[in-house]
Amino acid sequence: MPAKIIDGKELARRTREQLAVTVAELTETFGSAPGLAAILVGDDAASETYVRTKRRQATECGIRSTAHRLAGDTTEADLLEVVRGLNADDAVDAILVQLPLPRHIAIRRVLDSVLPYKDVDGFHSRNAGLLAVGQAETVPCTPRGCLALLRDTHGDDEAGRLGKLAGQHAVVVGRSSIVGRPMAALLTAENCTVTLAHSRTRNLPEVCQQADVLVAAVGRPEMVRGEWVRPGATVIDVGINRVERDGVSRLVGDVAFDEASEIAGAITPVPGGVGPMTVAYLLHNTVELYRRRRAGESGSG
Ligand code: NDP
Repeated sequence: MPAKIIDGKELARRTREQLAVTVAELTETFGSAPGLAAILVGDDAASETYVRTKRRQATECGIRSTAHRLAGDTTEADLLEVVRGLNADDAVDAILVQLPLPRHIAIRRVLDSVLPYKDVDGFHSRNAGLLAVGQAETVPCTPRGCLALLRDTHGDDEAGRLGKLAGQHAVVVGRSSIVGRPMAALLTAENCTVTLAHSRTRNLPEVCQQADVLVAAVGRPEMVRGEWVRPGATVIDVGINRVERDGVSRLVGDVAFDEASEIAGAITPVPGGVGPMTVAYLLHNTVELYRRRRAGESGSG
């Protein structure tokens, strides 16, 4: 039986719809809308598109958004100065530093310069550490979006065919600090049994075949083949890879969709799966940071 297609676009739309209601209520209560500031360094075309989409959807939800565009040869010191300014700006609740940064800039220093309670991506070492010890505050948007897709898929499956997440064996392929690692931490908190695989994992196809839930976050077009997928498994494909096929440029994931969708129980498409959820959870995190600041939970006033 072909897999159920997990519609990330639709769940993201519903998530944004609910957020817009929350934002309207909070804006009424506190007298100002949540503020999101995006920093973009250089002229990477994909990053431009991502920032434009994030800002447009933020505005549609009632969030105030500003963009700070810096030249590709901006020094690290100048970038840190921009972050300092936004840290100090009371109208800014959430700061997003769009990655990748130019090679001459130390990413970790920049991410750790954002105040943890304005760190909308959850990339600050403090937020990563809190997630790792099971005390998550702000969680990176992509894995958080994947978790929402998994909860929606497993919680709402009428036939119960896919089962609840607790107790399931989840295999996450890829251990980056922005996707794989936080994904593994979230699934652990969900009471899954988690295997975190990477480029040095032996017998990767066999490891994947053991997965009830398989998350691919590798950055290699269609690396995960259909025969790697256990029949009935849920497959979340984080990968976004641009490839040329028959002279046409198109996006594919890290999973060979045509093969895997014949075997999986449920699978995300690319595009239209994880991507829209990443943006929805960026907005969700913005609202959470705003709410916590206004409630004084962060101690920031
Ligand atoms: P990184 O390059 O930072 O990490 C890739 C990970 O994959 C590494 O842990 C690496 O292992 C592992 N890996 C590489 N090759 C193999 C292999 N042959 N076998 C097993 N593991 C391998 O990538 P990101 O985590 O940043 O992104 C992953 C993918 O997700 C990309 O396609 C990216 O575009 C996409 N993405 C999509 C988002 C969305 O919103 N949908 C958001 C963010 C990313 P090792 O650590 O050993 O090197």
